[in-house]
Amino acid sequence: MDLQQRTVKSMNRENVLNYLLLSPQGRTQQELAQHSLLTIASIGNILSELQEKKLIEKSGLALSSGGRKPSIYKLDQSHYRIFSVSIGYGTLTCLLVSLQGNVLAKDLLTFDLEDDPYQVLDHMITTFYSICESQMVSFDQILGVGISAPGPLDEEHGIILNPPNLTGWINVKITQYLHERIPLLIQLEKDANCTMMCEYYYGIARNSMNALYVMVDAGIGSGILVEGEVYKGATQVAGEIGHGTIDLNGLKCNCGNYGCLEVMASGNAIVRKALTEVRKGCPTTIAHIDNNLGLEEVLDAALQGDDLCLSLLQDSSRYVGIKLADKINFLNPELVILGGRINDKLEQYTGWVKETALSRIFQETARGVQIKRAKFGDISEGLGAATVVLKEAFKQQ
Ligand SMILES: [Zn+2]
Repeated sequence: MDLQQRTVKSMNRENVLNYLLLSPQGRTQQELAQHSLLTIASIGNILSELQEKKLIEKSGLALSSGGRKPSIYKLDQSHYRIFSVSIGYGTLTCLLVSLQGNVLAKDLLTFDLEDDPYQVLDHMITTFYSICESQMVSFDQILGVGISAPGPLDEEHGIILNPPNLTGWINVKITQYLHERIPLLIQLEKDANCTMMCEYYYGIARNSMNALYVMVDAGIGSGILVEGEVYKGATQVAGEIGHGTIDLNGLKCNCGNYGCLEVMASGNAIVRKALTEVRKGCPTTIAHIDNNLGLEEVLDAALQGDDLCLSLLQDSSRYVGIKLADKINFLNPELVILGGRINDKLEQYTGWVKETALSRIFQETARGVQIKRAKFGDISEGLGAATVVLKEAFKQQ
C-alpha cells in the first residue's frame, strides 16, 4: 500500500471514529457509509478491521426497514482503556477511561510548583501502574496515555515549553520521558483544547460545529472549534486568550507583556488582589487565612456571601466579558462555553460574564451565539486528552 492509500485509509478510519464518538447510541454500517460517503463494502472492510483490533464492537441490532435487522456498531467498551493525566497548577488529575468516555478510576495528586517536574512525573508513573493494578487492567490493554497541560506546548516533539504560571516546567520533554517508562502511545495536548474536545464529544457542544471554550481558572485559556476540528494555528499555540492586553496601564504579566487579561482577571489575580485587601484590613471572612490563601478559599467564601470575594470575582467577570465580546465578534461562534474552576463552582460568575459580553457584542453576532456553562468539571481535560489518544490510535491502526 503506498503512502497516499495509507493516508486515505487513515482519514476514513478517523471519520468513522468521529461519527461514533458523536453517536454514543451507535451507528449501523449503512449510516456510517452515508456519513463518510464511502460504499457499504468499503465501510464493511474498515469495520471488520477495527473490530478485529478490538477498537469497535457490535452492540445489538437496529430496527429493520425490511429484511434483516442491521447490526449497531459502537466503540468497544470492554477491551482497551486509556490512561489520561491533566497537569494543573499544583495538581495532577489521573483518569482511567473506557473508549466510550466512561471514567473507571480517578486519582488526584498534588505537587508544589517548586518541585522538580520529572519527580512529579515519576509520581504520576507510579500512579499509572497502581491504577492498572487496582483496576486489574493489563499493560497491553492500555491503548495509550493522554496528557493535558497548560500551553504553550510543542505538541510535535511532546515538550511543555514555558507555561507562564507553571514555574519550573520549562522545556519539559514529557512525551519522551513518559515513553521511556511507559512504552505506549503518548499524546500531549493543550488543556483548553482538551476541554473543548471533551465538551464537543461528550458535553454541550456535541451539536455545534463552531465553538469557543474559555477556561477561567488559576490562568485563563481558550480552545477554538472550527467546523468540528480544534483550530491550532500556524505554530500550534492558537487560543492564548489570557495573554492579550486589556488594561493599557495594567501590571506586568508572567508572560512578559503588560495588562494581560490573565494578570487582571485570572484566579491567581483574584487571589493576589484579595491578599492585598486583607493586608489593608478590609473586613472579610478570609482574613485569617493569609499565606495559605488560594482560589478555592476565595470561591468558598464567595459562595458563603463574602462581600470582598464576590466583588473581586465580579470585577474579574467584567474583564473576561469584555474580552469575550471581542472574541465573539471576531470568530462568530455559535456556542461559547465557560469552564474552569471559577465557572464550575460559582454559577453566578458565568451569568456576570455572559451579561457583560452580550451587552458589548455586535447585535448581528449576538443573534447567533449562545453562552453556556461547561457540563464537565475537573475531569474534562482528562476526558479530552483521552480522545486525542483514541484519534491517534485510529489513525495508526
Ligand atoms: Zn500575559
